[in-house]
Amino acid sequence: MANDPVKSLKIEAGNKVRLRSFDTDDTFGWHKESALAELEQVKVQLEVVQQRLFGEEQRSLLLVLQAMDAAGKDGTIRSIFSGMNPAGVVVSNFGVPSEEESAHDYLWRAHAHTPAKGRIGVFNRSYYEDLLVVRVKGFAPRPVWSKRFEHINAFEQMLVDEGTTVVKIFLNVSKEVQRQRLQERLDDPEKRWKFRKGDLDDRKLWPDYTRAYEDVLSRTSRADAPWYVVPADHNWVRNLVVAKVLLHHLERMKPRLPESEPGLEGLVVE
Ligand code: AMP
Ligand code: MG
Repeated sequence: MANDPVKSLKIEAGNKVRLRSFDTDDTFGWHKESALAELEQVKVQLEVVQQRLFGEEQRSLLLVLQAMDAAGKDGTIRSIFSGMNPAGVVVSNFGVPSEEESAHDYLWRAHAHTPAKGRIGVFNRSYYEDLLVVRVKGFAPRPVWSKRFEHINAFEQMLVDEGTTVVKIFLNVSKEVQRQRLQERLDDPEKRWKFRKGDLDDRKLWPDYTRAYEDVLSRTSRADAPWYVVPADHNWVRNLVVAKVLLHHLERMKPRLPESEPGLEGLVVE
């Protein structure tokens, strides 16, 4: 395919990322109706390969989701994982660290949630916050956070070497679409719980977050643990792209179901 987002959105190791060169409202020439139908097909394929990974119980996959507020991390997770075997998917949300978490190094809480063999782990935010909000809000001084690019690369390499496929996704939403979605959250009583006044402070720091994300994307995308920058202004595009990226990596793992006992073929249960 000429415009395969799985290829075109991947950040090659060492590339210097400028987010303004990525369209947030790209549709790849797709049409919404057929894209929604394709998502259903991709989800069926995902279910099959996830079940194999689960049955094989030898390797795991970690999907890291990062984004500005209202880019749709929760919606993406709901959309893509709804058909999978829930026993094999573990979603972990990383918010403001608890007292116990703060008393440890920043990778401690994340490591406790990396997926076991056979599982897909989804990180809704992650240790990357320790290079994003922590940097932007000045929760740690530069000499402390600036070392974390290397820590994280080494940590992810260790996970990869030990059998975890690491895939990282930045949901790239425009500032205007974020404004609309935050406003929607305020106006809709069913969505208002998601809104925190602090979201507005983060929104004011948009350029600082952009810079911090650009550094993360430029310095922590590796052949073995790549970042993808996914256009997130349209939910239907975002969901299909993330599903395709996930399927690509799961299929590349070629998980195999365990051998069944010999002599089962043709056996009839009476
Ligand atoms: P949400 O994802 O909307 O539930 O919000 C979680 C909040 O936790 C966000 O505002 C993040 O910036 C914040 N957060 C996540 N990790 C950290 C961290 N390591 N230090 C401080 N704040 C964090
Ligand atoms: Mg929020």
